[in-house]
Amino acid sequence: MPPKPETLAAFEAAKGFMPLDEGLALHAAAEAAAAALAHPLLEVGTYCGRSTILLADAAREAGTTVVTVDHHRGSEEQQPGWEYHDPTVVDPDPGVARMDTLPTFRRTLYKAGLEEHVIAVVGRSPQVAAVWGTPLGLVFIDGGHTDEHATADYEGWAPHLAEGGLLVIHDVFADPADGGQAPYRVYRRALESGAFTEVSVTRSLHVLQRTGLGV
Ligand code: SAH
Ligand code: MG
Repeated sequence: MPPKPETLAAFEAAKGFMPLDEGLALHAAAEAAAAALAHPLLEVGTYCGRSTILLADAAREAGTTVVTVDHHRGSEEQQPGWEYHDPTVVDPDPGVARMDTLPTFRRTLYKAGLEEHVIAVVGRSPQVAAVWGTPLGLVFIDGGHTDEHATADYEGWAPHLAEGGLLVIHDVFADPADGGQAPYRVYRRALESGAFTEVSVTRSLHVLQRTGLGV
């Protein structure tokens, strides 16, 4: 089932970097994973909650929970002076003056009526992964786009995916002219590991299923 109209309206109104067609593919994957496996769904890269809304809608329908991880200080390309910087998500305290997407995220999720279906973890993805102990039905990688970050997200979270669970990777561009290559390299690595098979592609959003053992 597609997201509820009020969920779609909240998604369209939310700040972020998830286009509608890829968002619908993410929602479909989340629905499938949540229905098939009674495990939570995990997102790396909350930002202001735009994609979280879609995961939370699917989790609500299936009676499961979304865990979304972000340090809320922004990726490299979102810092002041960079292409994706948004000055409205900077801490107004001059003694901090760092990016802080947490207040906007909380407002967005509240307005979408989805707060109770989401656990927000504020921290660095590899640090959170290192203390994590629950099998996951879906891992959505949409955090930092450097090789260091994308690789750490894959290495940290893929081992927590349950057998049959879905690994969703955003911003996968085979052609360097279309965007950075780190998510693409992680995507290739997942396929080459033999532990995953591809189940769908919607532009830069790839959905893989954990089928083999030994990630
Ligand atoms: N999913 C969002 C977009 C995420 S943008 C949407 O749909 O709009 C990427 C986010 O990843 C940023 O908020 C940034 O703070 C976060 N991020 C980058 N590297 C990270 C890391 N190592 N640990 C946690 N969060 C990270
Ligand atoms: Mg993205």
